[in-house]
Amino acid sequence: MNHAIRIHEHGGPEKMVWEEVPVPAPKPDEVLVRHGAVGLNYIDVYFRTGLYKLPSLPATLGMEAAGVVEAVGSEVSGLMVGDRVAYAMAPIGAYCQARTIKADRLVKLPDGIDDKTAAGMMLQGMTAQYLLRRTYPVKAGETILVHAAAGGVGLIMCQWAKQLGCTVIGTVSTPEKAELARAHGAEHVLISGQDDLPARVKEITNGAMLPVVYDSVGKDTFMASLDCLAPLGMMVSYGNASGAVPPVDIGILAAKGSLFLTRPTLATYTAKHADLVATATDLFSVVLSGAVKIEVNQTYALKDAAEAHRALEGRRTTGSTVFIP
Ligand code: NDP
Repeated sequence: MNHAIRIHEHGGPEKMVWEEVPVPAPKPDEVLVRHGAVGLNYIDVYFRTGLYKLPSLPATLGMEAAGVVEAVGSEVSGLMVGDRVAYAMAPIGAYCQARTIKADRLVKLPDGIDDKTAAGMMLQGMTAQYLLRRTYPVKAGETILVHAAAGGVGLIMCQWAKQLGCTVIGTVSTPEKAELARAHGAEHVLISGQDDLPARVKEITNGAMLPVVYDSVGKDTFMASLDCLAPLGMMVSYGNASGAVPPVDIGILAAKGSLFLTRPTLATYTAKHADLVATATDLFSVVLSGAVKIEVNQTYALKDAAEAHRALEGRRTTGSTVFIP
């Protein structure tokens, strides 16, 4: 029988319950996947608290997993029982032992990437891919700012940006996290709450400031991030770990130097199957080449997901966190 972590109402981690949920047979365009590993992402917290809207309740949380195809719908082509697959940002419902899912949301996993690594990287790694290569395509020689540099997305961004020839300035909350970010390619690491961010960026760049800031922290860092940009720079606000950014008067973008502002999401960048496959393929290649190492630094049994949420929200995790169902 299938077990899942569901919520019946929004709230704290205590709202997450481990319960038996039947798995339907796959519809014609779906497959049934048995999960080998499930990923934890900050977006799971937003759905749990209600910051992001759920289609209905009760709901199984989770946006990312890896596993094996166990049954295939009548109209599915290109996937067979026994194939190893992974997904991210598919319809919510990954915190379970098995589920049905549309076949076109899946990518096949290469042999060199195990389930745990896949569940630790699909969502965070494809995010790093589209941010660095499509939202603002970085160029060798540029200096960029990556907030939460020791986190899941952060450690991948630091390594990948370095491989692309960038100098990375990271922000973190503790000296231990600073050490980790440095070990993964961030050349300069600033401690949030201690360092004056724009002043330190000015020093590091000899006054030039930055072409791009990747900001996943949101409310607490938004204004300081804008102040780190050079004229015509791009503010990529892609998350809200500290809370949602309040409404912005767009005149501020003119006043600070004709800045660009975008609020992207992986869902848009991988909505088309061809984009999903291209994004995943690029990620697989940097991981298989060794340029980007996926650091799964926390592993929990799926039934203990509440504990993992507490650690993530309490800023006690680094790198990626994976659940074993
Ligand atoms: P992380 O592992 O990065 O964890 C979040 C980190 O944010 C914490 O470790 C902490 O690092 C930092 N942080 C800063 N302020 C706070 C705060 N008040 N409360 C909690 N954490 C805080 O998570 P993920 O890698 O899963 O995700 C990173 C961010 O990227 C999230 O905001 C997420 O929503 C966003 N995201 C966006 C996507 C998109 O397409 N738009 C897709 C994937 C992720 P420190 O202690 O060092 O400050």
